[in-house]
Amino acid sequence: MCAKTFKGGIHPHDYKHFTNHKAIEKFPAPEKLYIPLIQHIGRPAVPIVKVGDEVKKGQKIADASGFVSIPMHSPVSGKVIKIGPYPHPTGTIQQVIEIENDGKNEWISELQDDEQYFLLSSEKMKERIQKAGICGMGGAGFPTHVKLSPPENRPIDTVILNGVECEPYLTSDHRLMLEHPEEIIAGLRIIMKILDAKRGYIGIELNKKNAITIFKQMLRDQKNINVVPCMLRYPQGAEKQLIYAITKRKVPAGGLPMDVGIVVQNVGTAFAIYEALRYHKPLIERITTISGEIVNEPKNIKVPIGTPLSQLLEFCGGTSEEICKIISGGPMMGFALPDLEAPATKTTSGFVFMGDKEVVDTTEAPCIRCGRCVDACPMNLLPTFIADKVKNGQYEEAMKLGVLDCIECGSCAYVCPSHIQLVQWIKIGKLEVNKLKSQDK
Ligand code: SF4
Ligand code: SF4
Repeated sequence: MCAKTFKGGIHPHDYKHFTNHKAIEKFPAPEKLYIPLIQHIGRPAVPIVKVGDEVKKGQKIADASGFVSIPMHSPVSGKVIKIGPYPHPTGTIQQVIEIENDGKNEWISELQDDEQYFLLSSEKMKERIQKAGICGMGGAGFPTHVKLSPPENRPIDTVILNGVECEPYLTSDHRLMLEHPEEIIAGLRIIMKILDAKRGYIGIELNKKNAITIFKQMLRDQKNINVVPCMLRYPQGAEKQLIYAITKRKVPAGGLPMDVGIVVQNVGTAFAIYEALRYHKPLIERITTISGEIVNEPKNIKVPIGTPLSQLLEFCGGTSEEICKIISGGPMMGFALPDLEAPATKTTSGFVFMGDKEVVDTTEAPCIRCGRCVDACPMNLLPTFIADKVKNGQYEEAMKLGVLDCIECGSCAYVCPSHIQLVQWIKIGKLEVNKLKSQDK
């Protein structure tokens, strides 16, 4: 198998063995759900229900507040009991709609099978996607209807489905590819139709050979869709790295994939797009991985959006020892959480639990100028110099060094022998540079 890859990056242990062989299990909807109004990049949704309202499963409960925003829907039938602040899986506090599940599982009436969905016009397809509240499910959360609406001067000839899942521990995309390949391919065809793209690729890392085999078999007679095995290298799943690995096209600094005629979507997003088009189904559940050495029964679970982490951990039999660290998402790009209250959202690909032995000492030491962070950076940046400039408040200098091009992959911090919190400094630098830029406008 001739595998593709990119320059830079690292090889962290993938820890996927905890769950990559475990079929997706369905989580019974909890008694209470907490639906955040912000689960995506863009403006938060605005509630259209009030406390005391009865809702049905799949009913819209919050509306998009602009083009770069998405609506939210109830994953259960029940009653709205609170609208207010609640912990969010990004480690922040956000507004949520709290719903008490009545256990009746009553769907809205609009849900119906539309076997003729592929005959819809591109605009009607996008409308249905927008109505379903779909955003990028690989973690970024960009509203999908926006990504599928490039300006006219940016024609798209290629769609790449991202099935790389390079973050350690996470296996939700892997299991989805094994268990729902037809729906994922149908989702890819919808995206290609909307964008009038002639070529499709599905990029999958070599540690998912069974998924590669399935897709190759299913697409063996298709000339315009290829399955591309990718080498094991983090962050292979980052958009720019995946685009380069598959097409050798380079997205310019500060640019977007559409600048080189490409749109990238996660395999989970393709699945959600298919369900929205075929069944009018809003995005109210997703597959998420609960994993870690100390989790008694690590699993891949189909989770109603808004389910608190505490209940997911309980479903996995709890932990065998005291939890030292909880990470929402993978350990490379995820967020540390203080407790088990946060709910799963549309972008929650997994939660990882670590005990005493897995949490390494990260006391910072001085930089020894070894250059490992530079070698590891997939964006060809100089992380140590950028971090220095930010520490000294020299934000314009940090901007000249390309701080805004950092994709926050964490590779530099991972290899740093001095445990310097490079990504944290770079994130601060990005915030400050963006502030400077907005003052200049
Ligand atoms: S500087 Fe940014 S892009 Fe480069 S390795 Fe560090 S986190 Fe990744
Ligand atoms: S890897 Fe760490 S110690 Fe080495 S140059 Fe980069 S910041 Fe300095």
